[in-house]
Amino acid sequence: MSDNIQQLRDYSTRLIRMGESVSLLFWDQQTYMPTGAANVRAEQIAVMSEFIHKQRTSDEAHKLLVNAEADAKSFDPDSDDARLVAQTRRHYDLMTKLPSEFVAELSRQQALGHEVWVQARKENSFAKFAPTLERIFDLTRQKSEYYGYKDHIYTALLDEYETGTTYTDVVNVFSEMKPYAVALAHAIAASTNPVDSSPIIGEFDIPTQRALTLKVVKQLGFDFNRGRQDEAAHPFCSNASRDDVRLTTRFDRTYLQQALYASLHEAGHGMYEQGSPERLEGTILAGGTSLGVHESQSRLWENLVGRSRSFSKWVFPIVKDHFPQLKNTDAEGFYRAVNKVEPSFIRVEADEVTYNLHILLRFEMECELLTGKLAFKDVPEAWNAKMTEYLGITPSTDSEGCLQDVHWSEGLIGYFPTYTLGNLISAQLFHALRREHPNIEADFETGDFAPVLSWLRENVHSHGAKFLPHEVVLKATGEPLNSKYYVDYLNTKFGDIYAL
Ligand code: ZN
Repeated sequence: MSDNIQQLRDYSTRLIRMGESVSLLFWDQQTYMPTGAANVRAEQIAVMSEFIHKQRTSDEAHKLLVNAEADAKSFDPDSDDARLVAQTRRHYDLMTKLPSEFVAELSRQQALGHEVWVQARKENSFAKFAPTLERIFDLTRQKSEYYGYKDHIYTALLDEYETGTTYTDVVNVFSEMKPYAVALAHAIAASTNPVDSSPIIGEFDIPTQRALTLKVVKQLGFDFNRGRQDEAAHPFCSNASRDDVRLTTRFDRTYLQQALYASLHEAGHGMYEQGSPERLEGTILAGGTSLGVHESQSRLWENLVGRSRSFSKWVFPIVKDHFPQLKNTDAEGFYRAVNKVEPSFIRVEADEVTYNLHILLRFEMECELLTGKLAFKDVPEAWNAKMTEYLGITPSTDSEGCLQDVHWSEGLIGYFPTYTLGNLISAQLFHALRREHPNIEADFETGDFAPVLSWLRENVHSHGAKFLPHEVVLKATGEPLNSKYYVDYLNTKFGDIYAL
């Protein structure tokens, strides 16, 4: 490594370590922080974020970058060092477009917005949240203007989460998927072989659920020496390095699958972070490459593995050990119950068939709010109208409608489509994995998940954030993103369950 590259790397490592500390402040805010600390926490985060932003856009940062770029000209463009320099340039160019005071104000509003949302959701009152939401959207619009965009304001926002993906790409993905999802949902609704979910509904005490989720997550391969699991209002995974990965989950005393599958999901995110290569640790190339690829990992473990028939054969006896009241069902009954398709209000609890329609709704509303087509006071009404149109059900309260997700309160706008991209990528990855291991599902029956994890380590995790999302998909599967795999997966699986 040249001296110039080493200096650039050392400089940014210090700032990355500070950023990781900020992510611990966020984690703490959502798990253990006393409510009264909300204002001071917002200040702490704002001060840290402003400081980091100033350092990353300083004259010194620029000088180090320019020197490193001169050296990198002679490097293999796919080498770690060349990618480190190229990614640093990309981030530098983006960050210098935002004034530091703007960054501080944005992070302050995000931290405050979270608290207002928690309260509004508790009181079931969108009106309480509306002014904060409007402020956050104003700042977001301003951010897109600073970044600049060619086709649509939404592309500027998407690019932060899924580099290279445009507004038009997302519109195309949804127009490809929507007819299949709607047709499949209708066929299922008319099926003469309905699914009985009663075995997983009842009374399931929380300490026992906690023990169950920890046991399953450990078996998948999540390393508890380098991570932990706690509770939060909205499950998430935050990482302060590959060696400190925090999962959160939430428990529902009356619905067994919520915590179990939220834990599988977050563990999928967590194992991606833990699999980031050691040689990239502390650099801009560490961790996951994009939210879409991240979501492919969580959905692959949650659904392609966790909601498979063979996984049920392994997990059901363990579930029954924890909850003997399941004695009247069997692995097949459990498999069917966790795969019941039914339009529901809450996105994170939605089945695989209707899930993407929840995302489409949010994508459309974000576009309408950003372009001024929709007024903030009309959000609940617009939300409910779309729910009725796409899913045939109408929320009766704000909490089961437009207040359910944490994202907008934290300024995460342009983020939702990455969930759908993640679903598509998960099926494409699983298809590629099965090409190499045609009997992979037989391993699930014995609780052996090492072959899946090692395939993902080799084909996805080992790249860290070195390659862009579309490059990772191409490397791992041999072709660009193709929604066919997800559509085929849904049709085959649910065609069988519902005897279509
Ligand atoms: Zn996720």
